[in-house]
Amino acid sequence: MLTWQYTIMNDFNENLLLLDTLNLCCPGCKAQLQRSAKSYSCIACKKDFPIMYGIPDFRLFGDPYLGFEDDYARTQLIVENMNRLDFAGLLKFYWSNSPETPDSLREKFVRTALLGENKAKEILKSFPQSEADKHKTILEIGCGTGGFIVTAAKRYKYIVAIDIALRWLMICRKRVEGMNIKIPLICCCAEFLPFPKNYFDQVVASATIEHTRSQKSVFSESYRVLKQNGVMFVSTPNRFSLSAEPHVYLRGVGFLPRKWMGLYVRLIKGMEYENKRLMSYFELKKMFLKFKNVKFSFPDIDDASLNQLGAWERFQVKVYRKIRLLSIFGLFLLFFGPMYYVLGQKPIQDSDIKH
Ligand SMILES: [Zn+2]
Repeated sequence: MLTWQYTIMNDFNENLLLLDTLNLCCPGCKAQLQRSAKSYSCIACKKDFPIMYGIPDFRLFGDPYLGFEDDYARTQLIVENMNRLDFAGLLKFYWSNSPETPDSLREKFVRTALLGENKAKEILKSFPQSEADKHKTILEIGCGTGGFIVTAAKRYKYIVAIDIALRWLMICRKRVEGMNIKIPLICCCAEFLPFPKNYFDQVVASATIEHTRSQKSVFSESYRVLKQNGVMFVSTPNRFSLSAEPHVYLRGVGFLPRKWMGLYVRLIKGMEYENKRLMSYFELKKMFLKFKNVKFSFPDIDDASLNQLGAWERFQVKVYRKIRLLSIFGLFLLFFGPMYYVLGQKPIQDSDIKH
């Protein structure tokens, strides 16, 4: 038992060593931090941020589904079982210990997580590519189970992954483990990033923005930490999509006034519809107002994910694929398509130009 604990401790320390190579700051006041073995503390506001299993907890508020205590308890459950299970086993174990998730969705969630790398390949296709990619520093906001970062690591050398749920970071660590890649993991709020300004070449938020507390703050923080000409990428479902709402697999949710959505989902699906705020084309466009070269596109679905779908869903995807290729339907997809990929670039600011 002692040997097992020792191995775990070693892995945990590795994350801290990676973090020592980064320039971190207080997520609240952005002042300098001091690290001890157990925590980071801010030299200005004196706030203390604990280190949990080698991952700093820079959250100023907890994740939308579980409070701090429950998140810590589930994280511990994952830590206790992460050596005996493989990645898929750990995912199944996690969802079987999540009482608030209906049985019908558990399997779907596991499958979606396992296909994360296929989805990541589609996302990476939409990014501008250049020789300089190897040297770029990428931040992923809301890394979840890590499908994107392990795939992106083949193209980019420096990736930093954050998530508001410590338990997901622990599952993500399991995915990264044994892949011979080094990606620092940080637990924090997307609205309060613990990085200085002009730090990253690219910020990626895939299927994350719709779950955040303040979408406006996520955009302003991402903008702040991006370098000049740095690229922001967002993938998010369209509120006014004609297909089913992807979190509850129910059609028509987005067309209701926001305050009625919860009741509708509860009546039809018997599930809660909380902490989800899907944006329309115009709402998203507004979020990208400060960015230049903003480009909307409509992602294709990868074949592996397509094979997981039922006959009716597969038919819909086939129709979507056809109209996606015809430019006359571009406007239609902009308003009613299932989801968006949006890229925008941070302009060079006058205040940053040296005279
Ligand atoms: Zn501070």
